[in-house]
Amino acid sequence: MHPTTRAVHLGRPPHEPDQPFNEPITMASTYVAGGDREYGRYANPTWAAFEEALAGLEGGEQGARCLSYASGLAAVATILDLVGPSGKVVAPRHAYLGSITQLADLEMRGRVKVELVDISDTDAVVTACDDAALVWVETPTNPMMEVADVPAIVRAAHAAGAYVVVDNTFATPVLQQPLDQGADLVLHSVTKYIAGHSDVLMGAIVTRDDELYAVLKQRRDMIGAAPGTLEAYLALRGLRTLPLRVERASANAAELSRRLADHPQVREVRYPGFGGMVAIVLDSGDAADVVQHATRLWVYATSLGGVESTLERRRRWKTEAATIPEGLLRLSVGIEDVEDLWDDLAQALDVSAR
Ligand SMILES: *Cc1c(COP(=O)(O)O)cnc(C)c1O
Repeated sequence: MHPTTRAVHLGRPPHEPDQPFNEPITMASTYVAGGDREYGRYANPTWAAFEEALAGLEGGEQGARCLSYASGLAAVATILDLVGPSGKVVAPRHAYLGSITQLADLEMRGRVKVELVDISDTDAVVTACDDAALVWVETPTNPMMEVADVPAIVRAAHAAGAYVVVDNTFATPVLQQPLDQGADLVLHSVTKYIAGHSDVLMGAIVTRDDELYAVLKQRRDMIGAAPGTLEAYLALRGLRTLPLRVERASANAAELSRRLADHPQVREVRYPGFGGMVAIVLDSGDAADVVQHATRLWVYATSLGGVESTLERRRRWKTEAATIPEGLLRLSVGIEDVEDLWDDLAQALDVSAR
């Protein structure tokens, strides 16, 4: 099956008379004893349907297994917890701020050592892998849109005995399958493209490694970082149209990137050539502030990956890396008509020129 077909058909009840098309929302804190489920923190059929579908998208023909979490950051915390005392984590200097913050917190408390690298500088990453326990990859990175050479990083990390996790939130399994490139774990903020409608907070981890799956499952049971049932239902509903939405958002983003490159107010366009995320750099933080307030269609908001287009100046967050330009605007391109998106963005950029 192709990804679009998988997205539509996986995680459904069997094709039998009277079965519903969709796995229902099962509200259960406990189950009658003697089966596999027992208690609501261990298992839920609505989560299981979502997990089957996402595992099928990330794993393709070879398959994979998925665990869903209360949020992307709950999944991040669970993976970082795999690192033993004083183990070294190699991570991108530009990455999702919540992941960087967790790493900094663990380092400050003496739990792990952290080496931040430019993830697009493969030689530097390979050198850093030497004594690592975990290599954290985000590609493209938030918000600089740097792209990592995953196969080369996997080779170096595995030679050092380190696990590799790829945060695949920006590219989604439609555009990038890190497990096929050798990664041990794939992480998602399901909140973003997979759920896709800005109404759900959820995370997921996908792996082909049965041992890692068992450890992660046991830890999810133990700490209770599980998602809500309604969230799992909505995320699966969103996943059904993921390939269509990603295709449209990517086409819009590619076209806007071409036009933005010629706009006099735009100093730099950072677009990796795929996906719906674009960063543009204006001359100053002030100019970027003006643009984010001057749009009418584009919503000034954080987060990303919804059907609606959003934008924000990243350095408005005081803890964002100082190496990110003050004038950088991150655009999450939605699935609206590209001409409407362009008209609104162009008029807002013109306002900043006055
Ligand atoms: C949003 C995001 C996260 C965190 O996920 P939450 O669902 O917000 O907890 C992690 N990585 C990336 C790339 C993200 O965009």
